Amino acid sequence: MPHVITQACCGDASCVYACPVNCIHPTPDEPDFGIAEMLYIDPSTCVDCGACVSACPVGAIVPGHRLPETAARFADVNAGHYGEPATDEARFPVRAEWRLPMAPITKPARLGGAAPGELRVAIVGSGPSAMYAADELLKHREVKVSVFERLSQPFGLARFGVAPDHESTRSVANLFDEIARHPNITIALNTEIGRDITLDELRRTHHAVLWAGGAPTDRPLAIPGVDLEGVQSATSVVGWYNGHPDFAYSAPDLGTERAVVIGNGNVALDVARIFTADPERLATTSIDQTALAALRGSSIREVVVVARRGPEHAAFTLPELIGLADGPAHVWVDPSELVGVDPDAIDDPTVAAKVSLLHEISQREKPTEPFIRLSFGYTPLEVVGDGRATGVKFVKTGTDQESVIDAGLVLTAVGYRGRAVPGLPFDEAKGTVAHVEGRIVEAGEPIAGLYVTGWIKRGPSGFIGTNKTDSGETVKHLLADAEAGVLPHPGSAAVPV
Ligand code: NAP
Repeated sequence: MPHVITQACCGDASCVYACPVNCIHPTPDEPDFGIAEMLYIDPSTCVDCGACVSACPVGAIVPGHRLPETAARFADVNAGHYGEPATDEARFPVRAEWRLPMAPITKPARLGGAAPGELRVAIVGSGPSAMYAADELLKHREVKVSVFERLSQPFGLARFGVAPDHESTRSVANLFDEIARHPNITIALNTEIGRDITLDELRRTHHAVLWAGGAPTDRPLAIPGVDLEGVQSATSVVGWYNGHPDFAYSAPDLGTERAVVIGNGNVALDVARIFTADPERLATTSIDQTALAALRGSSIREVVVVARRGPEHAAFTLPELIGLADGPAHVWVDPSELVGVDPDAIDDPTVAAKVSLLHEISQREKPTEPFIRLSFGYTPLEVVGDGRATGVKFVKTGTDQESVIDAGLVLTAVGYRGRAVPGLPFDEAKGTVAHVEGRIVEAGEPIAGLYVTGWIKRGPSGFIGTNKTDSGETVKHLLADAEAGVLPHPGSAAVPV
């Protein structure tokens, strides 16, 4: 039986390169790679060799015969992704042109005649995009990488953003640990750029500086009442239960029976799952112990995750919905909110599968245990309350029908946002550093020796592994600039490497 990719798929595409028969799609060269919610194994071409299993950094690939019951749905998701008929031509219309060389062997580039370790690259941040960039750079013995991390522990969102019950996904830290053990990399912890060392100092001492500082703030939700007590961002809760030092004082008030989460991306699902999980199960994870103690005393019985658009536009991904539906969580959808949304009328197979699963969930008994209610089509108008939140007023999207959901805790989960970096050109509209394919630009011109990657480059979207391709693009340009001799020399902006 062929192999199957499951929920933890991080999208870093290591499996694609390891596969000897090119049966994993979309590949980074295929157009839907950037928007795919996971990668898929084509069972009709998989030869069951297991090369992908060894390559996957998060243990997301399982031989079909060992697929646990809770992941059984992924066999169909993999097989059905490209639909019938199952010919290559039908599934991958221009596949022959896109086909990657199998297990490509690239000749190590010699960088502009530099000696081993001579090309010094500073990376700011140590999250997934930083570590994937370091990994690419360290393939060249001429490069020495210095990573600068503000916190006392490395790996950013891989440590402080991934939910504690997503243990497979968290295991990507093992890959980053391995990268960090390379002899040509150092990681300076507790080191903040602008406080402990300036950007100018970094530029003076390195040939290139690669900014990988992420998108550390939340998108604001501009409705009345968001400043009331009992309202906070979902990301502050994520930081709190993951022991992020910035969020040690962000404990949510769990002494209420209902919480409302505004927005239905994967962050919303993460928080809703943790709030309704059995604390005994959470106790077996890496959850912060203070958070665990608070969750043990929680009064929350229902978390309502509210989207302003319909189920066909849900921001959560199919793998996460499957994990919710078939895992230990209790989840429910009011069938009346799905009326008229027909999965068979939806072309996109991922969206159709999501809607179909939502219908299935809506046919379940409404849970009696603490549960998650997925709600669709309500635009938030204001958080109501007098000093403290007591609920959220919504309008049914596209109508003037208003209603209030009572809740003592309101979480905004409307996405992350990048923060301007002093000294780097910033695109306020996008919340990203201005760049062209990773080269930081001012007035359209690249600034020699300055690069960017990750969420502060492309915006807060995608999964941990998405950063591999993103950082690969930035590093490719950095190395091309080294090769072309246009990187500034440390100590003198004019002398090339
Ligand atoms: P997200 O996926 O961008 O979702 C944002 C949600 O907020 C959407 O439902 C959006 O609705 C809603 N929203 C935005 N503005 C709003 C407004 N003014 N009023 C009401 N709703 C509003 O953001 P996220 O959940 O923070 O996730 C960020 C990224 O991290 C995503 O790529 C996500 O997949 C990834 N992530 C992945 C995992 C995982 O794989 N397990 C876990 C966490 C995060 P509209 O769609 O209508 O705009």
